[in-house]
Amino acid sequence: VKDLLASAQREVIARFAWSNMLLGLDYDGTLAPIVRRPEDAHLRPRTRALLAALCERYPVAIISGRARADVASRVARLGVREVVGNHGLEPGADAERCERIVRRWLPALHRSLDDVAGVEIEDKSLSVAVHYRRSRERVYAADRVRAAIDALPGARRTIAGKLVVNILPDGAPHKGVALLRLRRELGADTALYVGDDVTDEDVFAIDDPGRLLCVRVGRTQQTRAPYYVASQRAVDDLLARLVELRGDGSRHHRREERT
Ligand SMILES: [Mg+2]
Repeated sequence: VKDLLASAQREVIARFAWSNMLLGLDYDGTLAPIVRRPEDAHLRPRTRALLAALCERYPVAIISGRARADVASRVARLGVREVVGNHGLEPGADAERCERIVRRWLPALHRSLDDVAGVEIEDKSLSVAVHYRRSRERVYAADRVRAAIDALPGARRTIAGKLVVNILPDGAPHKGVALLRLRRELGADTALYVGDDVTDEDVFAIDDPGRLLCVRVGRTQQTRAPYYVASQRAVDDLLARLVELRGDGSRHHRREERT
């Protein structure tokens, strides 16, 4: 894993910035600092300004685990081209099926977990997040959450995040599927994607060298991404670099040779 902002990687960023590139960004932990209460996660003024400048230079998509309306309200009026919620499945053709499944899960989860202190069930309509950040007995809470999920009807996929377990209907499109769809729909040749968490690994796992550049926030060996930036704050430096590389604000559509 290499630091994308190191001088040795200048060429890598430049090659993508000068191609017909889609910029894909996760929200929590990537654009916005992680905070105790997810509802308080806001962009710093500098990040806001950089994001607006980027939107004049690249097509920008935000791909988040939050419900779509939630994340859309947090990046409103900045010129973002697409907002994808629920880990890649909103909007999408699969939404109705997922909603039906989630509606069956919710009462079952409440029955199993309402007596566990500090556990919160977040209904994201197309998926569910079970948080246990506020639990005082996290090992116990995690066990109970796991047992409750095991008892749910229907096939599902779980993504364990930071003191949260996300439950998605099986077969639903993930962030990687969403990014590739947007790259195609927006007519881009390449994409640069930045994310900080387990669910972003669905993007990082895509093998598309030369056309997809993946960056993980925070240095870790537990990632498929070939590049990292050191911290959430360093994301701003990457965004600034991308703005700078298209200095005049006009959209470049210089096509790079595909590898
Ligand atoms: Mg994140």
